Amino acid sequence: MKPLEADLLVVGAGPAGCAAAVAARREWPALRVAVVDAARFPRDKLCGGAIPGGGRRELALAGLALRVPHAVAAHARLRACGAELRVPLPVPAVVVERRAFDADLVAQARAAGAVVVEGAPLLGLEGRLARTGAGPVAFRALVVADGASAAGRRALGLPPGPRLPLREARAPRGQDDLLFDLDAGLAGYAWRFPCPGGAGQDENAGAYAFRGGGASAGAALRDFARAEELALDDGAAWSLRPRAIGGPVGIAGALLAGEALGVDPLAGEGIRYALWSGRIAGRIAARALRSGRAPSPARHARALALSRSGAVLALFARLAPRLYGEDPRWRRLAADAAVAAGFAELVSGAPLLPAVAHLLARWMRLGRSGAPGGPGRNLAGARRSA
Ligand SMILES: Cc1cc2nc3c(=O)[nH]c(=O)nc-3n(C[C@H](O)[C@H](O)[C@H](O)COP(=O)(O)OP(=O)(O)OC[C@H]3O[C@@H](n4cnc5c(N)ncnc54)[C@H](O)[C@@H]3O)c2cc1C
Repeated sequence: MKPLEADLLVVGAGPAGCAAAVAARREWPALRVAVVDAARFPRDKLCGGAIPGGGRRELALAGLALRVPHAVAAHARLRACGAELRVPLPVPAVVVERRAFDADLVAQARAAGAVVVEGAPLLGLEGRLARTGAGPVAFRALVVADGASAAGRRALGLPPGPRLPLREARAPRGQDDLLFDLDAGLAGYAWRFPCPGGAGQDENAGAYAFRGGGASAGAALRDFARAEELALDDGAAWSLRPRAIGGPVGIAGALLAGEALGVDPLAGEGIRYALWSGRIAGRIAARALRSGRAPSPARHARALALSRSGAVLALFARLAPRLYGEDPRWRRLAADAAVAAGFAELVSGAPLLPAVAHLLARWMRLGRSGAPGGPGRNLAGARRSA
């Protein structure tokens, strides 16, 4: 079979792959970009579908538009250490159905000039030839954006990386906020997000375990549903690959993006980081190809680190083991109203420095007052929502 010829091959047509394809074509419109995906669109993807302001900003930076029905959440509710805070989101979050959202991103990638081949799982690499279920593709550079799958990383000779379990189910809609419950009995959190409207207004509820495995996510979700009086359907279990500090970003000629690279281990947020790293990988690959070089992982790592979402991801990757670890001071800190507002700014896409300066100042003030680690002192100021 004659191979499909491409300059850039993107493996995976989720948010990361579509952002990479569009960014590459924008950088160099003559570039031949092929995207292969194992699935046929529209396809399902287990996901809460929440895109806070930071993800909406990345969507726009990637040259992609939100064109599908979505719910809007103007507030986050955060429960920790027995307190509940209701925090306004500086930019409202949207919640999408991934089936519709991803299919529309594929349409936008095609409109940008990428060739998207569906039903084409990557089976292996032989030099600059990719074997896929729909035939071979010859390429000059590669972006691996195949999500939680390990196929792309394995083909590059990279370790699969860690995976963290989540469990998610649907219930009839009972509230309109993004609710995060850190008191849900696991080293992680349980959530409730409104789903896009229409006839059967729903919400999705789930549990994310930073430690403790899939059984703890399943048990926590059952207990959470009981406490919230949610009539959940059976739901499903899946996992995500968190970004590991210092983890690989690719090899010479092949860059990782999206969950293949790793996403936010603090909140399990992946769409923002898929769009962000896909855009950067696509741009770097196109620039390298235009000047006759192989895309360099060192350049990719630098560009990722020097961007706003990259800095937030690095911060969150350092906070996650602390927040979900043994030291209760971190969870008490999360229950502080000013700290929660700082996080709301960060997930909403605010510049990092003012938000972090604000968080640090708060931490130091709480530290001086003896509140972190003290018996719930910093809960005193927490505004309990009605
Ligand atoms: C239960 C759950 C809830 C979540 N909730 C949220 C949330 O509310 N908000 C948020 O931001 N993130 C959430 N996430 C994370 C988010 O879903 C992912 O991080 C995000 O989809 C990653 O995007 P991606 O483009 O890297 O990968 P994906 O969206 O997974 O896309 C990867 C694509 O690669 C394709 N593929 C896989 N293997 C191959 C192969 N061998 N060859 C070719 N193609 C292949 C797949 O078919 C798929 O289309 C959640 C995850 C889970 C599991």
